[in-house]
Amino acid sequence: MKPAPNRETTSQRPKSRLMCEECRRLLEDFGDAVRDVLTLNEAHFLAVIDGDVDPHRFEILIHVANERKQNAKYAYLQHLECRDHAEEI
Ligand SMILES: [Zn+2]
Repeated sequence: MKPAPNRETTSQRPKSRLMCEECRRLLEDFGDAVRDVLTLNEAHFLAVIDGDVDPHRFEILIHVANERKQNAKYAYLQHLECRDHAEEI
């Protein structure tokens, strides 16, 4: 028996069909990296307004986190071009 499509699943379908397992993993990784950048920027900001004597130490951490974010983004974009992705959706 074929289940009748209801409004909720129909509206979610186009998005989930474009997401293979690897996409989900790579996007999660990218999201983690974006969050790390935000967390470090907030910590940097708090250190500055708290009068921290060395708030600049955050700059290197933010730089490293940004590199990780870029790498995660490119890994995701590269995956979208590859055949594994095209075959899975
Ligand atoms: Zn994919």
